[in-house]
Amino acid sequence: MNQGNRGSTSSELLVLQFARNVSREAIAVLGERSRGQGLDLRVPPGTGMAFARLPFPAAGLLKDLQANSSIARAWVQQVPWILAGRDWQEEDTCIEVRGRRIGGGGLSLIAGPCSVESATQLSHMAHVVGEAGADFLRAGAFKPRSNPYDFQGLRKKGLEYLRETSRESGLPVITEVMSVADLDAVAEHCDVIQVGARLCQHFDLLHELGRIGKPVLLKRGFGSTLDELLLAAEHILSSGNPRVMLCERGIRSFEHAARFTFDLNAIPILKSLTHLPVVADPSHATGDRRFVPAVARGAVAAGADALMVEVHADPEEAFSDGAQSLEPAAFRALVNDLELLLPALGRPPLRGKRTPASPTAEDLYASRGR
Ligand code: PEP
Ligand code: MN
Repeated sequence: MNQGNRGSTSSELLVLQFARNVSREAIAVLGERSRGQGLDLRVPPGTGMAFARLPFPAAGLLKDLQANSSIARAWVQQVPWILAGRDWQEEDTCIEVRGRRIGGGGLSLIAGPCSVESATQLSHMAHVVGEAGADFLRAGAFKPRSNPYDFQGLRKKGLEYLRETSRESGLPVITEVMSVADLDAVAEHCDVIQVGARLCQHFDLLHELGRIGKPVLLKRGFGSTLDELLLAAEHILSSGNPRVMLCERGIRSFEHAARFTFDLNAIPILKSLTHLPVVADPSHATGDRRFVPAVARGAVAAGADALMVEVHADPEEAFSDGAQSLEPAAFRALVNDLELLLPALGRPPLRGKRTPASPTAEDLYASRGR
C-alpha cells in the first residue's frame, strides 16, 4: 500500500508521537530538518503524530529523533495504519456517549429496527430495547438499498424522530449517513454516526467524518479485507476524529445459505491489531432471525465489545430487513443468554440498566398503531 512519497520502495513507516504541548514552530523545525535528511515527514493536523516512509535504514535516524525533546516516542512499523494500531495505543479505546460506553472490557448492546418507520414505531422500539437492556437505539433514516424501488428511508423526517425519541427515552441514538451533503444534518440529530458497509471506502465521507465531533460506527464493507477496514478507520482518525468503532457485519463468500458470511476470525484479529472497539452485527450477517442469537453469542465469546441487533415489533411488516429482525421476546431472551454467558467468559456484566420487561411496551404499540 503506497501512502505517497513516490520513489520510496520501503513498506516501513517511521512514526513520531509528539511530546505534549509541542509547539507548531518545533514541528515546523523538525519537518525542515527531516527534509534535509531525505525524509518526507507528513503531519496530519490534530493527531499529535507525524509519519514518513523510510527510504533508507533508520537506525541512526531513529536514535537522533528519540533524543529530540519535541518527540515523546519514535518507532518504525510495518503495518500501514498508525493511529488505529496497538503500537500507537496499547490500551483499548473506550468511547463514552452520554454516559453509555463502548469498548474497554464490558459488553454494550445496540438495538433497534432497521428503519425508522414512524415516530410511534421508533418510540415504542426505544422502549422495548431500552427496557431489555440496550445501551443504544439504532435505526436508519437514510437507507442504502440495493433496489431503488425498495423503501429508501424517511430521511430528514426520520432524523427528527430519532432526536425526539432519544430525548424522550434517554437512549443515545445511532444512525447511518449516506452522503457528505447530509452529514451535518445527521450529526446534529444523532449521537453516533454509522457508515454502512457499502460506504466503508467512501473516502471523501471518511475525511469529513474526521472533522465531526461525534463517534463513528464504521461497518466493514462486505468485500473489504481487515486491512482495508483498518485503513478506512485510519482515514477518519487521521482527519482528526479519534472516536471510531469497527463493525463486523459479514462478508461475501461462495456460501449462500446465509445472507453473508459472519467472519468470526475478524473479532480476535481486530482486537489484536487495533485498540478501537469492535462491534458485531449478526443480523446483517445471517439475514435470518433464527440464527442471530447463536452468532451473537459466538461473537461475544470471541471478544466483541458490542453487539448490534435488529429488533422489530412486527418483523413481517417491517419496511426493511424484517427477516433478520428479532421480535422483542427473542431479543429479551438473547439478553438473558448473554447475562449467563458473560460471567462464564470472565467478562463484566451487561452495561445497560436492566429492569424487568414491562408488558405495557407491546400494549402501547398495539394501542397507538403505527
Ligand atoms: C444497516 O445497518 O441497516 C445496514 C444497511 O447495514 P450494512 O451497511 O451492514 O448492510
Ligand atoms: Mn438493516
